Amino acid sequence: MRDFGGIVERSPVRVVRPGSVREVADAVREADAQGVDVVPRGSGHSTFGQSLTAGVSLDLRGLTGVEAGARQAAAAAGASWRDVLAATLPHGLTPPVLTDYLDVTVGGTISAGGVGGTSHVHGTQADNVLALDVVAGGEPVTCSPAARPDLFDAVRGGLGRHGVITGATLRLVPAPERVLCCTIPCRDAEDVLRVQREVRADDVSAQVKPSEDGWVFEAKAVLYGDGREPPPGTAETEELPYIDFCDRMRPDVEELIALGEWARPHPWGMVFLPASRAAAVIESTLAAMTPDGLGLSGVILIKALRIGHVPMLNALGDPVLFSVLRTASPGHASVPEMLAANRALLDRARAVGGTPYGVGSIPV
Ligand SMILES: Cc1cc2nc3c(=O)[nH]c(=O)nc-3n(C[C@H](O)[C@H](O)[C@H](O)COP(=O)(O)OP(=O)(O)OC[C@H]3O[C@@H](n4cnc5c(N)ncnc54)[C@H](O)[C@@H]3O)c2cc1C
Repeated sequence: MRDFGGIVERSPVRVVRPGSVREVADAVREADAQGVDVVPRGSGHSTFGQSLTAGVSLDLRGLTGVEAGARQAAAAAGASWRDVLAATLPHGLTPPVLTDYLDVTVGGTISAGGVGGTSHVHGTQADNVLALDVVAGGEPVTCSPAARPDLFDAVRGGLGRHGVITGATLRLVPAPERVLCCTIPCRDAEDVLRVQREVRADDVSAQVKPSEDGWVFEAKAVLYGDGREPPPGTAETEELPYIDFCDRMRPDVEELIALGEWARPHPWGMVFLPASRAAAVIESTLAAMTPDGLGLSGVILIKALRIGHVPMLNALGDPVLFSVLRTASPGHASVPEMLAANRALLDRARAVGGTPYGVGSIPV
């Protein structure tokens, strides 16, 4: 069995596909009694074996269903963020933070942390969970900041090692009907971070792209609602329905599948950097790499964040998430070379107090 990373392979002794919380608890108790590891799995989009095991693989995609209320939604762990949006948008509501890709599970991204374009305002998806239903020690438990806060803090960002999330109560906020996406060319990493800090946008992100003249930096500021003025420096605007903006990766994913790139190994290097040192680490990383090290369809992202209280993420203050999302395309750097580059990125990050984002592929 593999994951989206396509680097690590494990053969589980058993794959269990529970259809209820009781079946999750039974599977955990049975594996515990046999002294076998149980590893939960959502859609398997982490990239370095985080959802894989030689023990029991617990595939949670059978736990589905989302019920949206006035201010919150109850989502089963195996529901995708696409399912969540489908349930909340008819009420004019949305989760405050969405991952760029919607076809990952609620349980999987809360176990990762879950960063989105709005994370500079709302923190991670794990920050926006009101309560969690968890199977811990073979028993179903509900935890929240008020009830079993120790367990609540251990499972959010805990990569499934401290309990199996079976359901989540998610905070909701009003959804805009339309958004204005503004593209802002930037000089360098420092300029990207300045734009992300200063611009008053609901959603901010940035990409670094290869060009014949070297790396090109581009920030995106997304403004919710009608009649908003593009921020200074905007070169291009595009107005979109909110749902199309949330689902913006879909055409790219279809193209990557058609090209075969989606199925290739994805050695993804992702680190949280202290904001004050981020630009220097980003620039030195880019200076040490060429487009060959990114692959045909690799992507580099820079995102300023505000993280609330998610102790397992181990990311202090208001860090910057720097993501070098490599694809090992034919004719480009090999997987071992890309993994070595990720390790060098982590070393650079650690030297300034940075930490890895746990769903990436960094040998430690
Ligand atoms: C195209 C793409 C775009 C992405 N965009 C973003 C992004 O914008 N922001 C971001 O933060 N991340 C992003 N990611 C990374 C993604 O959030 C993580 O890989 C996430 O873990 C994926 O969820 P999943 O359902 O695939 O989880 P899996 O990969 O199946 O599992 C991830 C980890 O969580 C554990 N786990 C899974 N389900 C449960 C559960 N119910 N209870 C307890 N533990 C569980 C697993 O054991 C594993 O350790 C992206 C990934 C891809 C492939």
